[in-house]
Amino acid sequence: MEMDSRLRGNDNGVVCHHIIRVAFESAVDAEFDYLVPDELWPIEVGQRVEVPFGRKNKLQIGFCVEADVPFEKSFTAGGRGRKLKRVSRVIDKEPLLDASLMALARWISSYYVCPLGQVLAAMVPGAVKKGAGVKTQRYVYLSVSFTDIEESVKQLRSKKQKQIVTVLQGRKAFSSKDAIELQSLLADVGCTDVPIKNLAEKQIIKIARKTILKSLPAIPEGISLRTDKVVLNEDQQKALAHFEAEIESGRFGVTLLYGVTDSGKTELYIRAVEAVLQKGKSAIVLLPEIALTAQTVQRFSSRFEKIAVMHSGLTAAQRNVQWQKIKSGDADVVIGARSAVFAPLPRPGLIVVDEEHEPSYKQDTAPRYNGRDVAIKRAQLTKAHCILGSATPSLETLFNCRSKKHFSVVHLPKRVMDLAFPEMKLVDLREGCFTQNGVNLISEPLAEHLNETIAKNEQAILLLNRRGYSNFVFCPSCKHTLHCRNCDVTLTFHKSKRAGCDRMRTVTGKHINYGYAVCHYCLAQTLVPEKCPLCGKGMAMIGLGSQRLEEELAKKFPQARVSRIDSDSMAGRDYYRLLKDFSEGRIDILAGTQMLAKGLHFPNVTLVGVISADTCLYLPDFRANERTFQLISHVAGRAGRSVKKGTVFVQTFLPNQPAIQFALSGDFDGFVEEELKHRKACNLPPFWRLAAIVMRDTNFDKLDAACKMMRERIDYIVERDNLTAVVRGPMPAVISRIQRFHRMQIIIQAPEAATVQQLFSKLRAGRPVRPTVRVAIDIDPVNLL
Ligand code: ADP
Ligand code: ZN
Repeated sequence: MEMDSRLRGNDNGVVCHHIIRVAFESAVDAEFDYLVPDELWPIEVGQRVEVPFGRKNKLQIGFCVEADVPFEKSFTAGGRGRKLKRVSRVIDKEPLLDASLMALARWISSYYVCPLGQVLAAMVPGAVKKGAGVKTQRYVYLSVSFTDIEESVKQLRSKKQKQIVTVLQGRKAFSSKDAIELQSLLADVGCTDVPIKNLAEKQIIKIARKTILKSLPAIPEGISLRTDKVVLNEDQQKALAHFEAEIESGRFGVTLLYGVTDSGKTELYIRAVEAVLQKGKSAIVLLPEIALTAQTVQRFSSRFEKIAVMHSGLTAAQRNVQWQKIKSGDADVVIGARSAVFAPLPRPGLIVVDEEHEPSYKQDTAPRYNGRDVAIKRAQLTKAHCILGSATPSLETLFNCRSKKHFSVVHLPKRVMDLAFPEMKLVDLREGCFTQNGVNLISEPLAEHLNETIAKNEQAILLLNRRGYSNFVFCPSCKHTLHCRNCDVTLTFHKSKRAGCDRMRTVTGKHINYGYAVCHYCLAQTLVPEKCPLCGKGMAMIGLGSQRLEEELAKKFPQARVSRIDSDSMAGRDYYRLLKDFSEGRIDILAGTQMLAKGLHFPNVTLVGVISADTCLYLPDFRANERTFQLISHVAGRAGRSVKKGTVFVQTFLPNQPAIQFALSGDFDGFVEEELKHRKACNLPPFWRLAAIVMRDTNFDKLDAACKMMRERIDYIVERDNLTAVVRGPMPAVISRIQRFHRMQIIIQAPEAATVQQLFSKLRAGRPVRPTVRVAIDIDPVNLL
């Protein structure tokens, strides 16, 4: 065959009949072909190989993404027709990803505009690739036949050697299958491995090697939970019947399980998983990382035997063990954080995404996928059912339920235990919050209630939004805040080194650099006036930091035991320890970010204070209202989880904001309708699709030029292909400089996902930007910072 001879002639003597395509874990958005020496064939898609790469032929590891590429179609660096290099080594005995995960990888690569190699790298945990926890152990067994043993033993002079043979004989170690682990044998006999070596030389015993995975179990033990089954209430029964029918159908579908906190959603996930296991299929349950407490994991592991967990609290070895367990079919339920959506389960029939509205499902490095949306895609590719659960579903999901035929809704309107909802109190921070030292973070009413709570030996949670760094502009004299000229929203202040050099006064009298005020709906920017346009007095900045809160607590409540949970500085284990201390009553007041608002049961918590409900609202992000509503309603679910009555204090500078008003009255539907009106008017999601291109460089002029080139290129494609899309920017990103890198962004709005896809696939092929400037493409961004 002509092709064969061309391949064979390629390299001195090494015969190659096959070509594979390899994707690398680098930002290079291309795949390359390699010859496979016959002795390494077959190589399957999903296996990793080591190959020479680049001019210096540095060895690199990549995934085989296509096996047996026809010679005519082969491609390598430098273009078609160049001499192909050879695969030097095959790393994995078996593919790490099966065909359906490979298809999912290709979809992610195309939808989220990310090199395939990078996607594949993200899908397999680092611990698996490194083989963490893998150890080689030696095993021994007798190689002489049963009848010859007596004879052999007689010839032995060493007592230890005789003893070893007797032990092996006694334990019936006559084949590699029944071999005894060497170290334990040596310990039993009480000798070094010299007699073993001697016996092996005489060919009386044989030594075998086995690789094993060693690690501690990943599922916490201890607290025993009631495992008796509860009787489902009427709403739950209806929901379960729906899930069972969907699972029975064997078709792809998505159900939104819309149920308030404590309405019994988790119980239903468990029942749905049971139903899918009965069909001989398996299930994945995704939770936000911070909800993966020992409590939740135990609840599932008390109901399912073959369960695997995947979250950041595991050691590398544990992670590898869990992954191998899933891959080999030893687990049929996987519970984990975002990346567990890639669990290599052979036959997934159900994927559950709890708290589907959580922005933490979005990965903020490449590939910038949303775990929820990937879950839906995986369900579609494998004909599985997908359950999205939330007390405050995202507008995207609600919109899909209204407009797409594969989506349905099941509603759980009541709390199972019929617990009363806590009392919600609004505190207007504009009244008397200013002191000589700045803003008072704990208002009089909240302080009073905190004192009472501690006196009664009950506990309190204080919540300060993590993104509280965002500042807003405010006139302390007449309470005026800056508004957008186009939209009815408050503007957010953000510092920008480039934006002129004026300075303005903060509440504390310090001066800071001047900047822009930005509208998070229409993205209009204005310079911040130094004087209030209404009363002519000086405008002020308000910043709320968690350190300020801690200081104030120490001063006002010297008798209380206060701890702070700081998501940025706190590693997983410390976090769990703190929660344990809190649940066992060694802490009175726990202050922290919204991570405290999720999935925790603390029956003794009777007071929850939201320090500033509007820190979200001042973010230059169109989802600010949605986040604020979610925050307040989830926090409300934390208080009063027992017979003791709970109270929630919501402090705000914007008591009339609709999001806050709706949240206080618990009116989700009212909020949704109001918010959808705004979104529609501004062509924002869920109606239109959004994509952000964030570019950064230390050299502003270089960055500026690259951004303009990108914009031109986009405009060219939009015009040539006659696409319906609105392109904005380049403009400074909200955080315009991080670690000496200037950041600019271009925002693209389009009515259809397909339009965004079309635009980016063209853009990708054209490679408009020199790789010197860093470009991050964010499809369906969850925030625009
Ligand atoms: P959610 O996930 O909606 O917050 P859960 O499923 O965690 O709700 O249920 C809250 C509590 O109520 C759990 O302790 C659960 O065991 C219990 N529970 C759920 N369903 C029932 C039921 N039908 N009868 C009694 N208790 C229930
Ligand atoms: Zn506006």
